[in-house]
Amino acid sequence: MVDYALQRKSRLAEVYSGRTGVAEVCDASPYLLRAAKFHGRPSTTRCPICRKEQVTIVSWVFGEKLGQVSGSARTTEEILRLAVSQEEFSVHVVEVCRTCSWNHLVQSYVSGLPPRPRVRRSRRVAGGRVANNSAGGGSSQVDTAGGPEVLGTEGMEKYL
Ligand SMILES: [Zn+2]
Repeated sequence: MVDYALQRKSRLAEVYSGRTGVAEVCDASPYLLRAAKFHGRPSTTRCPICRKEQVTIVSWVFGEKLGQVSGSARTTEEILRLAVSQEEFSVHVVEVCRTCSWNHLVQSYVSGLPPRPRVRRSRRVAGGRVANNSAGGGSSQVDTAGGPEVLGTEGMEKYL
């Protein structure tokens, strides 16, 4: 998990010192504000710019395997569901102030199931060898389905 607390702090320091204009950091797009309204969850962090309300936390999911879902905002419940049903995807958590449009990346992490390993299982069980051993015990059974022909003749020799 990557935490962006330091970047956030230095960004805010720039704003407070006047080196960066408020308009530059309060630039949440209508899309992001809409996502905050419908998919966001409240936080206890007061907006560092306008201090009028608590910022809303919005989580975005990105992943090749997500298809249409990739690049969209999702609720915590939806992300939990994706985490147990989808292969690896990343989640970007953004805080947004719905009053002044301040927004900043809070953290990012990888979620989802590990990519499925390609297991190639060998089904060759050496049945022929086992039959070979039992043949020495005097048994004439030729029960090795699909076993090598040689075994059959070996058993026959006993009756010749
Ligand atoms: Zn604000």
